[in-house]
Amino acid sequence: MAMMNAKQYEESLRKLNLKVYQFGKRVENVVDDPIIRPSMNAVAATYEFAHRPEHEDLMVATSHLTGERINRFTHIHQSVDDLVKKSKMGRMLGRNTACCFQRCVGMDAMNALSITTYDIDAKYGTEYNKRFLKFLEYVQKNDLVCDGAMTDTKGDRSLPPHKQADPDLFLRVVEEKVDGIVVRGAKAHQTGAVNSHEIIIMPTITMREEDKDYAVSFAVPSDSEGITYIIGRQSCDTRKLEGMTIDRGNMYYGGHEALVVFDNVFVPWDRVFMYKEHEFTTSLVENFASYHRQSYACKVGVGDVLIGATQTIAEMNGTDRASHVRDKIVEMNHLNETLYCGCIACASEGHREHSGTYQVNVLLANVHKHNVTRFPYEIARLSQDIAGGLMVTLPSAADFESPEVGKWLDKYYKGRADVPTEHRMRILRLIENITLGTAAVGYLTESMHGAGSPQAQRIMIARLVNMNEKQRLARELCGIDKGDHVS
Ligand code: SF4
Ligand code: FE
Repeated sequence: MAMMNAKQYEESLRKLNLKVYQFGKRVENVVDDPIIRPSMNAVAATYEFAHRPEHEDLMVATSHLTGERINRFTHIHQSVDDLVKKSKMGRMLGRNTACCFQRCVGMDAMNALSITTYDIDAKYGTEYNKRFLKFLEYVQKNDLVCDGAMTDTKGDRSLPPHKQADPDLFLRVVEEKVDGIVVRGAKAHQTGAVNSHEIIIMPTITMREEDKDYAVSFAVPSDSEGITYIIGRQSCDTRKLEGMTIDRGNMYYGGHEALVVFDNVFVPWDRVFMYKEHEFTTSLVENFASYHRQSYACKVGVGDVLIGATQTIAEMNGTDRASHVRDKIVEMNHLNETLYCGCIACASEGHREHSGTYQVNVLLANVHKHNVTRFPYEIARLSQDIAGGLMVTLPSAADFESPEVGKWLDKYYKGRADVPTEHRMRILRLIENITLGTAAVGYLTESMHGAGSPQAQRIMIARLVNMNEKQRLARELCGIDKGDHVS
């Protein structure tokens, strides 16, 4: 099958039989659910843009397995150029959707597995890589969305998986059969879970010998028997139930996360990509985390939209010429482009792994993601500073339409005389959506915790910088040690 377009993707989701819960009730029609639908639209954009000639260079790649043209979200990076295009694709989609478009996690999981399964096989003579490549070919041929599921619910953080009071708090193998394994547990915060055709499971932390039943990676269809999805709430989510009103802020797109429960789910052996090789859990976790930290190029794109919205409201308010406003806009751009530097740099400094897959520079990917835990918050703060308090005191769209009070809102909430009040309201609602509403999940809190919380990056930075080399340079230049210097 060729690359799907947005409509074909939507139809493919209709064929799934997912068990989804939201607000305490089973969602019978997931695709048309008004709260979930904007997140489906955002994933659909990853299909639609692949068919637009102007985005083809970023969105379409050549499969190293079949030589066919495939959507880049199903591609295994074969060069530094592929890695750079991945970063650029993230920014491009972020600026066109202004939210999380969800499809990166599966791409990052597949790239990580292409490296780690190869390395496990090299050590143990197993056939994980062969199985994985068969799965990958299926994903590429059918242009599927994969949910890359790593984060366990983790229970008591001071205890390893096998010491938890409830052993299911990390996903684990509960039974081995002739034809496969049975797994139980749950994965939390699963981005785009109910918009996915497949779920790829990975361990969440380094596992030791005693935790080897938890050292498991596999892929299963998203509607497998025993899987239940419980959709997470987002701030202002029920505004989507009010129809296509201005109060949505972003009229088209959104994201979602879900808790995904695996209640004795069967996985056939040919879908198992790691089992009990606990010493390779670090490799899988770090490969995935590095790729996903690079993927936070998406936030640069959302930042583009927020900066554009902020400049626009400044113009509508008549404050855009004030020197402090101009300077704040410069600061927002400076922070946003600094983020862009990081995601381009870690890609440009990428390297080839034994498997042939290209991996980003891990130190720089961690530095990039660490910046992402901070800069969007500052960009959002400056945006709110410039937007003014009306962003949070604005009456509803229904009040604007009211025959009794609408005329007063239209009159008294006017900014510059030549700008319709409605336009001012729309741009304020978009800023609210990105900095406080449903999209703030993606632009702020996800920036903090997605792909690992800040401390995870600090640990990696401390481990990866070459401190001995830095000290050697200092000691030589001040004459403590003798170096190889021209006199
Ligand atoms: Fe992709 Fe960004 Fe969403 Fe993560 S937060 S899935 S990197 S769009
Ligand atoms: Fe994420």
